[in-house]
Amino acid sequence: MMQPSTDTAWIVERAREIGFDLCGVVRAEKFPELAQYKDWLKLGYAGEMKYLGDPRRQDPRLVMENVRSVIVCALNYNTAAPYSVKAAAAGTLEAKPKGWISRYAWGDDYHEALWERLNRLEAEMRARFAAPFEARGYADTGPIAERVFAKHAGLGWIGKNTLLLNRELGSWFFLGVLITSLELAPSMAAEAALVPDLCGSCRKCIDACPTEALLESWTMDARRCISYLTIELRGTIPKEFREAMGWQVYGCDICQDVCPYNQKAPVSGLQEFQPRTARNGQTLLEPDLLWLAGLSEEEFRETFRGSAMKRAKWKGLVRNACIALGNCKLEPGSPEHGEALELLTRLAESSEIHIAESAQWALQRI
Ligand code: SF4
Ligand code: SF4
Repeated sequence: MMQPSTDTAWIVERAREIGFDLCGVVRAEKFPELAQYKDWLKLGYAGEMKYLGDPRRQDPRLVMENVRSVIVCALNYNTAAPYSVKAAAAGTLEAKPKGWISRYAWGDDYHEALWERLNRLEAEMRARFAAPFEARGYADTGPIAERVFAKHAGLGWIGKNTLLLNRELGSWFFLGVLITSLELAPSMAAEAALVPDLCGSCRKCIDACPTEALLESWTMDARRCISYLTIELRGTIPKEFREAMGWQVYGCDICQDVCPYNQKAPVSGLQEFQPRTARNGQTLLEPDLLWLAGLSEEEFRETFRGSAMKRAKWKGLVRNACIALGNCKLEPGSPEHGEALELLTRLAESSEIHIAESAQWALQRI
């Protein structure tokens, strides 16, 4: 039985009070965008991300048999630090070897931040709804295409950079969902009421992407995306992309940095998303590449405990830092140049073949 719309309004209000910036409710349908994933996968654009081929991603009923509704919540992580394109243009990179970590990964693991809030929302719902119901929370962790449900819940539109965009918030937010057997009134009564595509004739993200990963058709070839290359790809990063990677060592923010809707995006003061400082005083905001490339496995574990950056693993992060070092234009004869040469020479002998190969590549360039 459909719950009255006052219940939906109550859920949205509770989500906001719990700390989410946006919340909407949508029927758990097989939206057309979900079927389009099949074509995207067939074209090979997912690269090694085999989990994206999970058929449950195309039909929420395969995730929970009696699912009726999806509650979608967004949490702003836009901390008050410069955007990567502005920081790179500031021009200090040539003197000091620095890297760039994607904004979302500076602080504590966002999965935890979302789960904690989703669990609170679910607990409040259990207190309100007398009849038993099923609910399951996902925070970029399950076979759920969050952005498609977010679009249909009225939270925004999917931009040419393939991210969900909200007119006020831009795109700096995490999405978490609660799928439930409760039949809730949807936030948007009709498809026609959905947020229209406000990208218009803009193509700043497409033009700014250094590896041409964004295709004209609101599609991304993930195999070319720096986020994929630095985080998901376990092997060797193809040589054709290395120079274009620039100083990126974990993810890439460029197509968000240049988006007009992010220029005045509100800033989050949440402590959990502020850039971490390691025990030795090193920060994740424009981190020292010599520090990152020189991390031991144990130091990596300690520094990134409770951080989303664990996903790249030590081998991946050191591999990426070597490539970024190879893109630095260090002054020959400077102390930094000497240190980089020494470190890369050591890493070029690593028993980890992808680290060794990246270090050898970087050595040839500096
Ligand atoms: Fe291109 Fe970077 Fe955006 Fe990936 S994250 S599509 S590499 S600009
Ligand atoms: Fe859309 Fe322009 Fe933003 Fe790209 S940069 S997502 S085209 S508004």
